[in-house]
Amino acid sequence: MHEDANDHEALLEALIDGSLPDERGRFGPFGGQYVPETLMTAVNRLSEGVRDVLPSAAFQQRLEAELKSWVGRPTALTAAPRLGERWGADVWFKREDLAHTGAHKINNGIGQALLAQALGAKRVVAETGAGQHGVAAAAACARLGLPCVVYMGEVDVERQAPNVDRMRRLGASVISVTSGDRTLRSAIDEAIRDWVSDPEGTYYLIGSAIGPHPYPLLVRELQAVIGREARAQMLEKGGKLPDAVFACVGGGSNAIGIFHAFLADRDVALFGIEAGGCGSALGQHSATIAAGRPGVLHGNYSMLLYDDDGQIQETHSVSAGLDYPGVGPEHSLLKLVGRVDYETASDAEALAALDECCEAEGILPALESAHALAGAKRWADKNPGRRILIGMSGRGDKDMPILSRFPRSEAGVDVAA
Ligand SMILES: *Cc1c(COP(=O)(O)O)cnc(C)c1O
Repeated sequence: MHEDANDHEALLEALIDGSLPDERGRFGPFGGQYVPETLMTAVNRLSEGVRDVLPSAAFQQRLEAELKSWVGRPTALTAAPRLGERWGADVWFKREDLAHTGAHKINNGIGQALLAQALGAKRVVAETGAGQHGVAAAAACARLGLPCVVYMGEVDVERQAPNVDRMRRLGASVISVTSGDRTLRSAIDEAIRDWVSDPEGTYYLIGSAIGPHPYPLLVRELQAVIGREARAQMLEKGGKLPDAVFACVGGGSNAIGIFHAFLADRDVALFGIEAGGCGSALGQHSATIAAGRPGVLHGNYSMLLYDDDGQIQETHSVSAGLDYPGVGPEHSLLKLVGRVDYETASDAEALAALDECCEAEGILPALESAHALAGAKRWADKNPGRRILIGMSGRGDKDMPILSRFPRSEAGVDVAA
């Protein structure tokens, strides 16, 4: 027990000082490169790019310029006093909903598109589930003049039609995937297959902090701008750091992005909120860390939802962006070493938190982000008077078709007689 604690502390220190992931792409026991031999050339090329190009001054300057003038960074840090009064807390939002295309995904989209260009790629392939990453990838590729192909499961093409149109308007070709489960998981399989067939000319632009090494590291580095900004803004605007930070966790990119700058601040509690869906049985939620077991999916070893026969489970969440059976390996390590607590919020809790945020602050959050709000509210109840930072990963305009199926919860009472 005592030895375990020492090991865990050493792993956390290594993560903080940048010596993890190691050269095999391991975050402690998690991560790695579980890819076929045919993909190793492509993965190694990318690793070199992440090691040599990404940190270079020239690349960082280009990235910063695009983040500032095209994405709209830095995004605001907004105090939420009316929500804070209701919750008995000092509440702040980090506003990724204000970023171009409406969510944090664009930080990763433009960053990887720039890397693709720097590595000499002639075309980009991406996968998308709900379409948010596909839109970010399509926009970034249009910005840089790179042809973009987005793989999307047939089921998602049907239920996310407006985003399919958006991607096509932005110049991307959208390919409907009819194999496998015809959702995000099969779309990732197809994108990887495309990449294998042309590892020199094609760049695979992955949408979250998942996949084989170096993707979890690359995506975290591109999203870490969220936490760097938020930490500085909290100190500048509020004079001190938050007591707790909350973010929703799908694949884990916005959460790792906001957490990373706070890992060394041991007094700052970190909470990842997964989708509790409509029940605790397999298939009713996407609470990968809370309810999963370790396994391999999409090239890395991490927590995963699968049944006793080893079959990956279908997941459910009212928010399409959290609907993924895996999670990034860095989160699995943060859970193992106890630096981040992972909890769940149900569909109903997220919907209620969304309404409360709309009414109290005039901000319509994405259904994904509403899970972070619900988790924060629950914590505020038990810990009165604390300062809370919430990662507002995206805006909820995209969710209007889903929201129209749910009546406003009682938080939203019509004022006019
Ligand atoms: C895609 C998405 C998420 C979930 O993805 P992560 O990689 O876990 O961040 C969360 N919020 C919004 C608004 C999204 O679009």
